[in-house]
Formats: sequence, C-alpha cells, structure tokens
Amino acid sequence: MSAHALLGASGAHKWLHCTPSARLEETLPDSTSEYAQEGSLAHEIGELKLRKAFTDPMGPRTFTNRLKKLQSNPLYQDEMLRHTDTYLDYVSSVVHGYKTLPYVAVEKKLDYSAYAPEGFGTGDCIIIGGSIMHVIDLKYGKGVPVSAFENPQMMLYALGALLEYSILYGLEQIVMVIVQPRLDSISEFVMSVNDLMYWATNTVMGAAEKAWKGEGEFVPGEHCRFCRANALCRARADFNVSLEEFGYQKPPLLTNEEVGQILEKAQDLAKWAKDLEAYALSETLKGVEISGWKAVAGRGSRKFIDIDEAFKFLVSKGYAEALLYKREPLSAPAIEELLGKNIYKELLIDTEKVEKTPGKPTLVPASDPREEFKQYDLAELFKNELGGKEIE
Ligand code: SF4
Repeated sequence: MSAHALLGASGAHKWLHCTPSARLEETLPDSTSEYAQEGSLAHEIGELKLRKAFTDPMGPRTFTNRLKKLQSNPLYQDEMLRHTDTYLDYVSSVVHGYKTLPYVAVEKKLDYSAYAPEGFGTGDCIIIGGSIMHVIDLKYGKGVPVSAFENPQMMLYALGALLEYSILYGLEQIVMVIVQPRLDSISEFVMSVNDLMYWATNTVMGAAEKAWKGEGEFVPGEHCRFCRANALCRARADFNVSLEEFGYQKPPLLTNEEVGQILEKAQDLAKWAKDLEAYALSETLKGVEISGWKAVAGRGSRKFIDIDEAFKFLVSKGYAEALLYKREPLSAPAIEELLGKNIYKELLIDTEKVEKTPGKPTLVPASDPREEFKQYDLAELFKNELGGKEIE
C-alpha cells in the first residue's frame, strides 16, 4: 500500500462526487503546505498524549523526552499544547463516560478495500464500549469549520473500523466526531451500523469502481476546492464560464430566483479565479508563458535593520521615547487566546466583563448551518451602532 491511497478517505468528498477526479489528480504534482505540516505536528503531539493516557503508559521522563523532540520542530507553537489538551479532554470524557474501561486505539490504520479498491485511511482515535463505537478525528486547521454530519471521510473511517472490529464486538451504533480545537468546535454525527453498511454498499461501491477506472462524469462543486486540478479542470471552467447564459435571458431585469442562481455560481467563480491566478503565477515564475500576463515584484516592505539601535539614535536626536511606542489593548478574542478558554470564561465572561454583539448581516448559502438573521437581530445591531439609541 502506498502512503496515499488513490481512493483514500481524506479525498472521498472528491471521488464520491466527481469519480474521474482521482485518476486526473494522479497526473498532477502534489504539494504539501506549511499548514498541513503544522497539522501533522499537532497530530503527533495529540497522539503522544492519547497514547500516554490510554494505550502505552509511560513515565514522565519518557513523555517529556518525546514531547521535547516534537517541540524542537521549527513549526512548533506553544498553543499546540493547549489545543491538543482539548482533544485529550474530549477523548477522556468519552472513555470515562463508560462504567468499565472501553477499548481504545490510537492512530489506527483502517482498511475498507472490500468496498473501494486499495481504500484505507488512518483513524486518529477509536473507542469501543458495549455496542457503540466512537470514531474521532482531530482537525488542527482553523480556516474552515468541518462538520461530522454525513462526512464521507468519517464514514469511510467508520466503515474500516467496523470491518476490523465487528467480529469481536456486537456493534450497533457509530458516533463520528470531529474535534477542531482552534475553532472551538466539536461536531458529532451518529449513525446506525445498518445505515452505514447501506451507504457503503449502495453509494461507495459503485462510485469507487468508477473512480478506480477513471470513469464517470466530472462534477464541479464545493469539493473542487481541495482538488489538484482545481485551476485547470475544464469541467469547472465550463461550469463557471456558463454564467454568461444569464446575460441572454429576458426580461431585462433579473428575477430574484436568477439572482440566487448567479450568486451560487459566482461563489465558485471567485474561488476558481484565485486558483487560476495562483497557477498562472507559479507557471510564469518557472518561465512558462501565460498569454497576456507576467509576474512583477509586489509592494515591498520597510523594516529596521536594528530597531534598538535606530530608536536609540532617534532618542539621541531629541525624540521622546514615548513617541516611538504605541500601547494598545488586546482584543477580547486575543485575550481569550492568551488566557485559555476556561480562565477567560471564569475571569471575564462569568463576571460579565465582556458582551457579545451580533456581527453585521452577511449573505451565505441556505445550506449554511448558522441560524438565519432575524429582524430583531437587525434592530439590536442598529441600536448598538447608534450608541444604544432605539430605532423607530
Ligand atoms: S476540479 Fe472539480 S470537477 Fe474538476 S476534477 Fe477536480 S473535483 Fe472534479
């Protein structure tokens, strides 16, 4: 097995919706971002903590030595300790929620190749107690909140775990959990074993067979975001360029229905333009010509060669030191980051030193899980913006 399976769980949202994408991606270079490497490091710290707590008891010296080794990575940040503690706390709450100690596995290779050729993935943590299995995934990213609801990556992990453990345990229910500590999010989705097996047989098998052979239709959508072909894919380009069709429609003013449809398309259009821009820049920097475009130096920045020396010099020229520094209070979210969630709550929320006001209304697709903005939210917002005065 290679480190990345063609039909891996992490890419399932692509190959289940757009079956030829897996083979197309194979023809394109892969790249690992610094964010991904940072995520891997946080995973390793989380794994070490879970192993110490549940599967590989180790003395404090061994634990500290292993942790120190991970902390020597240039990508290490102190906040990783706090965020992996949130993950550990969640796993501990599940484990200790059982009357007798459940089975726990950490970083478990999960094989679902019976349903998708060479399909496998790695589950961060599996807990089995009675007829319930928890499949828990730590996501260190903070760009996009990831929901566990009908999440195909989680469902494939669950399928692999089910195939591994169903002989030993009488499993009936699976709880899939995504812990995303930097977004303060723990998303859970419960599914019966029967429903999962129905999905595996009726959705996964057919799509996996097509994906393995590189067959089926290219289907653009949300999933394009993480596809290696996302800049050059013709199906995505055709989908976005077809926005023009609205220009030929009559009557001269768009209907609200058309506005909704165009906005839906425009969302991907903007992302696609960014992907194309990134692709074109990297090509021009390699010396490849992109018709009508070239790379230039961006706006530069100015910085002191030695700030202490420069400031000392300014003071010697008669400028008061107080003029050279600015003292600014940290924002509430920055203080929360500094204190940690629990202390922040205890010291500032519970003592009513922080108030939460709704943000400005923003347009999102109807599928967005957030609650719809109500008229009274709007009134409250205006009241705040008008310095507490009621609006008529
Ligand atoms: S960019 Fe989208 S449509 Fe094109 S291959 Fe990738 S997932 Fe499919």
